[in-house]
Amino acid sequence: MTARDTANDTDLHAFRAEVRAFVAAALPQAVRDKVRLGLEPGKAEVQAWQARLAQQGWLVPNWPTAWGGPGWSEEQRAVFHDELVLADAPESGGISIAMVGPILIRYGTPAQQQHFLPRIVNQEHWWCQGYSEPNAGSDLASLKTRAERRVNANGEEVYVVNGSKIWTSGAHHANWIFCLVRTDTGGRPQEGISCLLIDMQTPGVSVRPIRGIHGWSLFNQVFFDEVEVPVAHRVGEENAGWTIAKSLLEHERLNLARVAENRRRLAKVRQIGLQLHEAGVPLARRPWFQQRYRELEVRLEALAATVLRFRQQAQDGASLGPETGMLKLIGSTLIQDIENLAVDAIGPDSLACDRAAHVELPELAPGRSPYAPAASARRFVTRGYTIAGGSSEIQHEMLAKQVLGL
Ligand SMILES: Cc1cc2nc3c(=O)[nH]c(=O)nc-3n(C[C@H](O)[C@H](O)[C@H](O)COP(=O)(O)OP(=O)(O)OC[C@H]3O[C@@H](n4cnc5c(N)ncnc54)[C@H](O)[C@@H]3O)c2cc1C
Repeated sequence: MTARDTANDTDLHAFRAEVRAFVAAALPQAVRDKVRLGLEPGKAEVQAWQARLAQQGWLVPNWPTAWGGPGWSEEQRAVFHDELVLADAPESGGISIAMVGPILIRYGTPAQQQHFLPRIVNQEHWWCQGYSEPNAGSDLASLKTRAERRVNANGEEVYVVNGSKIWTSGAHHANWIFCLVRTDTGGRPQEGISCLLIDMQTPGVSVRPIRGIHGWSLFNQVFFDEVEVPVAHRVGEENAGWTIAKSLLEHERLNLARVAENRRRLAKVRQIGLQLHEAGVPLARRPWFQQRYRELEVRLEALAATVLRFRQQAQDGASLGPETGMLKLIGSTLIQDIENLAVDAIGPDSLACDRAAHVELPELAPGRSPYAPAASARRFVTRGYTIAGGSSEIQHEMLAKQVLGL
């Protein structure tokens, strides 16, 4: 280890302590409890938390300083993210900060940047992502939502959008949607796609929530019926949307392993193991539980070490190859196995999937684990992790072709 490494470690240690102290002071305990128990905090709670982060200058850690970013290194961002997850903070930013901001910073016009970026930071705009369609998911390039260029009744040049998007997470809370639309039907499907920024208050936009098997409505179908979008709200060139959409993956790669989230969920399972008993013995001392718990722990540490190795490579200036696809695959499977153990440990008590437990802490019957009300729902929510953002089958295929050369 060099003197520079040691200095860097000390700085990171101090930074971690600073983030931890801030979160301890700024995040209300009730919100923290909800997140810890697997519930979804309400929009108002997330907004209040994000406002606090914005006040601190920490809401947009992945943005350049010119647009409000704190100017952190990749390592500091990773520490910050880990500390927030481990402290049971609500997920902040989402599509707006992780996706729309970076796209506008890279591809937006100065006018788009000046209009939209500050409105993300002050939370006037909440974004959702309109990529998938009823017949376009893994094969996204086959999307059909049509945007035709016309002159409207006021003499303005607009795109008129018709079609539908599905599985749109958070569209019921959002007021803007970042959409991939078809602007050309000739040539390769990838070449006729454009990116539009659409105000969801525009006449012709409607949102239908989709209730999941867990009883929660996390995503939606969004319909567009003759929706007029100013041409100035197109990002990048017409028909260049595919390149822009794909570039986003670069912003996500290292976080897709969900190391901190896996760690937090495994800590929950540990608590369950200590609290609940089987045949008069804490579950944590029953061999079946111990074996599964230890195996998950080993898998988590192996994943964490692999992520660290990639981070080190990135820090040293090496470009990250398609190998990072394995991080999403392993991290999403791991979290499902963790949630499965939680449900198995809680037993039949977890099957009463409390719909009210979505956003409100339920009253607990005597002897019931505080983790029971949301356990089933949480298992079904994580079921989606191996589908969203590219299914496991697609990841396997990419790894086979691009990494193993099969
Ligand atoms: C929790 C969650 C949140 C989401 N949020 C959003 C969002 O906010 N915005 C958005 O636009 N979309 C969102 N999605 C949609 C997501 O991107 C799609 O579900 C995903 O891309 C898969 O597409 P699909 O559902 O159409 O399944 P399909 O593509 O129809 O796939 C069905 C099955 O076939 C398999 N398959 C497909 N093609 C191949 C192949 N070539 N080789 C092998 N197997 C294959 C798949 O792995 C899958 O098992 C979300 C999904 C989930 C689960």
